[in-house]
Amino acid sequence: MIPDAWCRGEIAVLGLGCSGTAAAKFLAKSGCRVYASDRDDSAAVRTAAKLLGSFGVRCDVGSHDLERIMRSTLVVTSPGIPPHATPLQAATDAGITILAELDLASLFLHEVPKVVVSGTNGKSTTTALVAHVLNESGLVAVAAGNIGNPLIDVAAGASRPDWLVVEASSYQLHYSPHLTANVGVLTNVSPDHMDWHGSVEAYYADKRKLFENASATSVWVLNGDDSIVLELANGVAGVRRMWSLHRAADAWYDRANDRLMVNGRTVLARSRFPLLGDHNVSNALAAAIAAIAAGADSGAVSRGLESFRSLRHRLEPIREVAHVLWINDSKATNISSTMVAVQAMTRPFVLIMGGRGKGEGYSKIAQLLKPRCHNIVAYGEESDKIAAELGVAVPAHKEASFEAAVDRARSLAVEGDVVLLSPACASFDQFSNFEERGDVFREMVEAL
Ligand code: ADP
Repeated sequence: MIPDAWCRGEIAVLGLGCSGTAAAKFLAKSGCRVYASDRDDSAAVRTAAKLLGSFGVRCDVGSHDLERIMRSTLVVTSPGIPPHATPLQAATDAGITILAELDLASLFLHEVPKVVVSGTNGKSTTTALVAHVLNESGLVAVAAGNIGNPLIDVAAGASRPDWLVVEASSYQLHYSPHLTANVGVLTNVSPDHMDWHGSVEAYYADKRKLFENASATSVWVLNGDDSIVLELANGVAGVRRMWSLHRAADAWYDRANDRLMVNGRTVLARSRFPLLGDHNVSNALAAAIAAIAAGADSGAVSRGLESFRSLRHRLEPIREVAHVLWINDSKATNISSTMVAVQAMTRPFVLIMGGRGKGEGYSKIAQLLKPRCHNIVAYGEESDKIAAELGVAVPAHKEASFEAAVDRARSLAVEGDVVLLSPACASFDQFSNFEERGDVFREMVEAL
């Protein structure tokens, strides 16, 4: 039921992306008067406004009507809009309640237990892993939230799953006072998104909101290798369960015997978990504890981890052609992600990097590249800088276009190699987003 107070006037929805559009549609279909606006005037926003118009939502494209927002009964905001943006400032100054779409949805799904996954990296993979293991155990679990499936769409649906596995970004947690995790996972925390949060302290404070509605029955699944995670969870009510890549814990990686351990028992040999890299072992350990806390047994954990396949564009093996394995890691749009990918390589490899730079230096990966990377192909706007900074460590070749870079990598790879696309840059010089870049890569590899 929509609270009466919200129906006494108009609800303002900010942002007409996937989450805002879903929220506006849900509210309009529930009988509310809704105003939606987006400062962008792109084709996608126009299409969303047209769709919402058919549900009676009044829309502004290319601007926000601040007066109207300040008179609204509630503001529902989208993840991309920072708190200092003019419409949110105006709403705050007018004393209007601001909720994330995720939080609004949680009000209508309070009876469904939730695993909530947050952290700087690994959220989507861990979320998908938990849902997969729960489904393997016979429970109906749905992955939603920041993973690309707005939670409000689940609220709008007729059926209710046994469990929701909700990926929550720091942006969403900022405006989610009601979201309650029965099981909460914090993958890792390092400074990120300073432009949105304004300071490291504000970012950490938003991550801490994961614990906001903690109670004695909450289960907190924490990265025992991350001191900031442990510090943020300090003093929070509920049960703490920990995982580690380095030492015995509730779940841990027994590297010497090459196995994943949970509650003192082997759940899987490392070699049978298909995802590459220690970071994904970390995600698997987190997911195993969370799924067990939600009711999965250890057999389902073993089967689920073994049958899980990497998410698209995240160290995703595409195909082995003439004994060369092609891997798509187009999601790696910064240096730290590319470092994680490089560390996950167990075969000699050719690395494709480039696109639009984010002002980062590249030399910090030079030492990591030396053992296995024998050639770099740098493409796009950032090719000169990458070649100049890394060419001293590994032979670096420059190409203008992405397609030419893929062709060059093909000519450099020899039997037994990997060709790894892990660009360390945004895609916007040649593509609309990293997904499109990854899809072009896949098409080229499939045509080889
Ligand atoms: P998120 O949803 O938090 O962005 P993803 O699961 O989509 O995380 O992974 C995105 C990228 O983050 C991966 O391609 C990898 O580079 C990096 N990553 C994933 N898991 C971890 C982890 N546990 N620790 C560090 N980096 C990780």
